[in-house]
Amino acid sequence: MNAEFYLFDIDHGQCAAVHLPNGRWCIFDVGSRADFSPIEWIIDQAATNHPRFNPARHKALATAFKFEKATISHLHGDHITESEILFKHLKTESFGLRYTTPDEQLLTDMRDSNSETSLPLVRRFLRLCRERANAIQNHPTNQILPPPAPSSTLPSLASLFAQQLTTPRLPSLRELLAEQSVVPKPSSLPSLMAARLTPPSPLPPVFPPVAAQSTLVIEPNLGVVKIRERGIPLNITRKIEGSSAQSRVNNSSIVSRINAFGSSILLCGDLEGEGWEFVLNSRLPMLQQWRELVSGVDILVAPHHGHRSGFSTTLLSLAKPAVVLVSVKSGDENVDSRYSGDMISGICLDGTDYCCITTRQKGHIKVTIEPPAIGQKGQRSWSFGDVTLG
Ligand SMILES: [Zn+2]
Repeated sequence: MNAEFYLFDIDHGQCAAVHLPNGRWCIFDVGSRADFSPIEWIIDQAATNHPRFNPARHKALATAFKFEKATISHLHGDHITESEILFKHLKTESFGLRYTTPDEQLLTDMRDSNSETSLPLVRRFLRLCRERANAIQNHPTNQILPPPAPSSTLPSLASLFAQQLTTPRLPSLRELLAEQSVVPKPSSLPSLMAARLTPPSPLPPVFPPVAAQSTLVIEPNLGVVKIRERGIPLNITRKIEGSSAQSRVNNSSIVSRINAFGSSILLCGDLEGEGWEFVLNSRLPMLQQWRELVSGVDILVAPHHGHRSGFSTTLLSLAKPAVVLVSVKSGDENVDSRYSGDMISGICLDGTDYCCITTRQKGHIKVTIEPPAIGQKGQRSWSFGDVTLG
């Protein structure tokens, strides 16, 4: 089966998704338009194409659908409009969701840089995270986690998240024991539990790659598709020049690289130009992997809706994309003209050359990547507009 990448036309904001060859779905940000919700469309698709579909079961199949993985690049309203629906479709025993865990300063920045209408979306997202932390804690496989601290206000939620969310699903006692291949004597249980309850040492604010954390963590089943993600540690985002509440939240974005059948797609969140220049030119050991993460990509989804403020010459010179995609609303005049310039090699579709393709011009954008013949890259084909939704 093919891999399919979607960049949805939602006017202002962003929502992208990958339909994996194994039939599962990953979603990257959950923006939406008043008259179109990408996440609802995906859920409907998954139910309709389910092997055991019949019209009478549609609702039950849609309700049961779970995303294999979800990433929220950063907490600005235009990227989290549909978080309420997203949380209903995450697996019950683990978060299945990656985002930068806010600390007190980032919460303040989020409050200062979200509009009056966006702020309730951020509050709701954080509340849903907290409820989920509780639900996971009460899940039978996670019974021995410490209880959450009571908290009700937005800033005080940070301390809860900082521990809960930077730690991927902790192994259950059963898994812990299985890993050690020992049957515990009753006397050894307290020491094992004590080891689990020891507060974790400080971790970076973004989930490190799951595999690096522990072999016990259940990894998403992405099949042949590989996804790598990084975020700039929050203490570093504050050292970046030109920093404001808005740019600090943007610079907390998670960047995702998707590799499928030899094609690579880089999703950049709203990372700002100064942020790119800082991480891509830094000699800090913790930032060394950034250059490799962004180098040699086929399709670049432009940072910050293609705005000038997100443009980075260093990013473009490393990524060397064949084509740039931009999620931008009609009437937005800020798409940087350099995305149509010499730094992009360009692609030809139906006799027309493209360096930069925007949702404003083309509507929804779908890239289908076929499994390759031996020793080759899988072919890519493109479609645009409502036809992509079938
Ligand atoms: Zn945005």
